[in-house]
Amino acid sequence: MTINYLSVIVFGVIVGLVPAFIASSKGRKFLPWWFYGTFLFLIALIHSLLLSEDQSVKDERALASGGSMKCPFCAEVIKNQAIVCRHCGRDIPEGSASERIKADQANNPAKFKGQVINDGKDWVCLCGTVNPYDRDQERQPCSNCTTQRDSVLEIGSKF
Ligand SMILES: [Zn+2]
Ligand SMILES: [Zn+2]
Repeated sequence: MTINYLSVIVFGVIVGLVPAFIASSKGRKFLPWWFYGTFLFLIALIHSLLLSEDQSVKDERALASGGSMKCPFCAEVIKNQAIVCRHCGRDIPEGSASERIKADQANNPAKFKGQVINDGKDWVCLCGTVNPYDRDQERQPCSNCTTQRDSVLEIGSKF
C-alpha cells in the first residue's frame, strides 16, 4: 500500500515536469507549474498548451531574429525599420541605424559570416564561430573549423 502511494507520487512528479517545461518555455515560473502538473497533470498539461507566450518571450525571439531592436527611449521592442516607436510615440533618431548594426553584431554575430564585427575586435567564420581578431597574426585559423581568416573575410572588410 505504502509502495503504491509512493510510486503514484513519483509518477506524478515526473509527468508534472511536462507541463512545467511547456509553461516555462512560455515565460512562466517553472516550480509552481511543476506542482500544478504533479497534482493535476491533465488539467495542467492542457492549460500549459493553451498558454499564450509571455511578452518577454516574444520580445526575446523578435530580438534574436535580428528584425527588431529596443527603442532607445522606452526600451520596448520595436521593428528595425521603425521610424516612430509604437510604444512611446517618439521618433527614432536616424543615427541609431549604426547603433542597431552594432547591437545586432553583438547579439547575433552568426549573421555576419565572413565579416569583421564589433569595431574590428572579432571576425566571424563561415561556420558561424566568432574569433577574436588577432592583428599580430598574419594568418589566423578559426577556433572551430581551422579555416584561415583571410580566406573567409569578404574583400574590403579587412581591418
Ligand atoms: Zn519607445
Ligand atoms: Zn570556422
